[in-house]
Amino acid sequence: MIIVLKPRISKPEERAVLQEIRKLGYIPHVMRGVARTVIGAIGDERTHQSLETLVTWPQVESVMPIQKRYKLVSREAHPANSTVQVREHVIGGKKIHVMAGPCSVESERQLLQTAEAVKAAGATMLRGGAFKPRTSPYEFQGLGKKGLKLLARARRETGLAVITELLSEQQAELVAEYTDIIQIGARNSQNFQLLIAAARTGKPILLKRGLSMKIEEWLLAGEYVLANENPNLLFCERGIRTFETYTRNTLDLATIPIIKQESHLPIVIDPSQGAGRADLVIALCKGAVAMGADALLIEVHPNPAEAWSDGAQQVSLEVFPKLMRELQPFIAAAGRE
Ligand code: PEP
Ligand code: MN
Repeated sequence: MIIVLKPRISKPEERAVLQEIRKLGYIPHVMRGVARTVIGAIGDERTHQSLETLVTWPQVESVMPIQKRYKLVSREAHPANSTVQVREHVIGGKKIHVMAGPCSVESERQLLQTAEAVKAAGATMLRGGAFKPRTSPYEFQGLGKKGLKLLARARRETGLAVITELLSEQQAELVAEYTDIIQIGARNSQNFQLLIAAARTGKPILLKRGLSMKIEEWLLAGEYVLANENPNLLFCERGIRTFETYTRNTLDLATIPIIKQESHLPIVIDPSQGAGRADLVIALCKGAVAMGADALLIEVHPNPAEAWSDGAQQVSLEVFPKLMRELQPFIAAAGRE
């Protein structure tokens, strides 16, 4: 911690601050400048009481932490990239994985038709919500367990790995039984008890960024997963709320290099929730791949106009193979496969 004192404070006022720093278990180092004094307090900020409240003292101008609040997700803890194994696939390695499928699982025909089409175009994983977090209680809430069974059936028939959302702690075991990756949605990304329950299933976790979540909060939410002994975490950027109305959310592609710098864990980009517009999905995928994303999560539907959720942002079975083809030069340019 760095504690900056106000100009012209008396010796006794300075001594009182030094005493408090020592009392809380830190060793103070005083640096006297021309105009003001700065104190470096040495000690582990994660295991000692915070010095942040010193800012309320009249002789203190500011208190700045220098240690990061997250540990296990940080690159400092693990300098090399880490990878997440999902069945026979490795996310975070050379291959860029595409997770594709409908926003919601609606019917056997809809899911199987989509699964076969995305597999033929090169996707390795099938997405589909069985439990849907809808803004209104009157909107389609998902098929629930029936949806999970359909996902398992699609996995059996196509060999695709499955990713689906977990909404409630009570359903952690049930969802883990059917899925290969547990998705924690944007509306739940700081539901810490849910994160703990999901982590404890041992399944890989894809953690969406919350609608108005700072990157530090997202990293700290991820820390809950690793702190609960599950190293298999994927961060997923899906757009944040801004003042812009041309897109549903503002897809923050800057998170790709930021997460890569701050963390050793893979980053996934979801351009579908990110833009809310099917016509922008291909361009956003190209940008994401060029910037170093490890995987893409894309909504695909056989008939987007009649989708039971998120119709405007789902690409059709005809557009998806085009997307995969157009992505190839970007994948090669990024040195990936
Ligand atoms: C989804 O993937 O369909 C979804 C609901 O995502 P998010 O939590 O990012 O809104
Ligand atoms: Mn959706």
